[in-house]
Amino acid sequence: MDLAQYLSEFENRLGRLVVVSGPSGVGKGTLVNRLLEVCKNTQRGVTCTTRDPRPGEIEGVDYYFIKPEQFREMIEKGEFLEYAQVHLNLYGTPVFSVSRTREKGIDVLLEIDYQGARAVKEKMPDTVMIFIAPPSMDELEQRLRGRGTESEEAVAKRLHNAQTEIDHIPMYDYLVVNDDIDTAAGELCSIITAERARVQTYEG
Ligand code: ADP
Ligand code: 5GP
Repeated sequence: MDLAQYLSEFENRLGRLVVVSGPSGVGKGTLVNRLLEVCKNTQRGVTCTTRDPRPGEIEGVDYYFIKPEQFREMIEKGEFLEYAQVHLNLYGTPVFSVSRTREKGIDVLLEIDYQGARAVKEKMPDTVMIFIAPPSMDELEQRLRGRGTESEEAVAKRLHNAQTEIDHIPMYDYLVVNDDIDTAAGELCSIITAERARVQTYEG
């Protein structure tokens, strides 16, 4: 193939789909926000949840906050790329949150749990899978409690589920330890930059 034609096709590929998982409180949200500032051409894929918004969370930015009935309706209409029960609520990735952005060549970051990550990888094998780990379990607990957004019962549930997330690390392509936030955001950006330069993908 002619070089100009090859480069044009390469540049017009779909944006990459990047899944970011890790235990609740590890800092996924904080890290992705930092990444969006430093890594151009990336967007967060907004997902749906049936949990109540935390103070400061914005509809359509942090999540689409919907009722369980609406969630079930979306399942029936096949509108989710994946969905799962996480902790005590339902969470799901609407297809539109991913496809529209990727079609513009923009990379989409999805903060979803290991169940969702596995389902997405099965449907789209060239998904880039990144696991965010805390420097220690003690630090994870401190961050979760320090955030001050969950009841004691919810904190206990999230700490218990943290081990299940950690058990699934081998399923991921990359592991990033969120100790210093700037270092972790830099590593995340390097991974995405390298993945953009990948020649072979399964699709697009
Ligand atoms: P998650 O989205 O994984 O549940 P958050 O982004 O809400 O986690 O972060 C949980 C808490 O930890 C927040 O209070 C956040 O400010 C804090 N945090 C995040 N990253 C770091 C870090 N690298 N060092 C110290 N505290 C952090
Ligand atoms: P939180 O209630 O702390 O915002 O999110 C709890 C967990 O739900 C997060 O750790 C995240 O991994 C997961 N999550 C958020 N959105 C989705 C989604 O659309 N699908 C799945 N499977 N998990 C999600």
